[in-house]
Amino acid sequence: MKRITLKVGSGMLTENNSIAKQRMLNLVSFIVRLKPHYDVILVSSGAVSSGYTALKLDRNKKISKKVLAAVGQPILMSNYKALFDIYDVNTSQILMTEENFDSVAHIDIFRQIINAQMENDILPIVNENDITTISEQVFGDNDQLSAHVAHRSDSDMLVILSDIDGYYDKNPTEHDDAVMQKLVSEIPELELKQVDSPNHEFASGGIVTKLKAAKFMLDQGREMFLCNGYDLTSAEDFLMNGQHDKGTLFSRTRSDSLQSLDT
Ligand code: ADP
Repeated sequence: MKRITLKVGSGMLTENNSIAKQRMLNLVSFIVRLKPHYDVILVSSGAVSSGYTALKLDRNKKISKKVLAAVGQPILMSNYKALFDIYDVNTSQILMTEENFDSVAHIDIFRQIINAQMENDILPIVNENDITTISEQVFGDNDQLSAHVAHRSDSDMLVILSDIDGYYDKNPTEHDDAVMQKLVSEIPELELKQVDSPNHEFASGGIVTKLKAAKFMLDQGREMFLCNGYDLTSAEDFLMNGQHDKGTLFSRTRSDSLQSLDT
């Protein structure tokens, strides 16, 4: 069976200082529909924003992101567990740092864990372990973490679910005439040097970290699909129905993006 790594950002999972329950349920039921077709690994942000939802803090008060992540990670996971329980899907939590991808021994352990979970029909939910780590040990954004997870778990594709429909020739939130790129095989170096432009409070990436993730995937001979996670129609169409209307496919091997991954 083909394997995919799916990445969701914190913006999608929280809203107005609480967990965005309906969006999370949509995501969970989408993953349940994908599972007969793909081995799925989920990379989920949202620990820090979930920490905020629990503590109901004054936003002006400074509190360490590590404290928020430590509070929020179990909240995030218990929300996932409650929703996946509806469908009898077992989940696991895997917390990683950049260092975990540095040595052959570590990568080997990661691969073994993922393979064992796939064999036992467990859905791994991966997040960055930024609680006890120093800044040099973390990616700092889950776009690049998810690319490493996808590569080292031998995923055929990384799917990034974002707040935007895909990758445009210029920032669509600033330019009305921005044109979506449906198929991208090379990422210009200049694009990778842009300043990060996350679109909301808890986003740490913006388009640049997504392009870095895409370049990493392309360099490994793998593919990435960037699409909207708030409305999962384009992800569902692409992954399940072989239709590609919206969303950007980063690939060096496909000249026709309609050739489904599922075939
Ligand atoms: P997420 O939390 O979903 O990962 P981010 O805010 O980190 O989202 O990144 C997506 C945002 O990047 C878009 O909403 C948009 O504002 C911004 N952006 C900047 N340039 C582009 C571009 N060329 N194409 C698409 N999005 C872009």
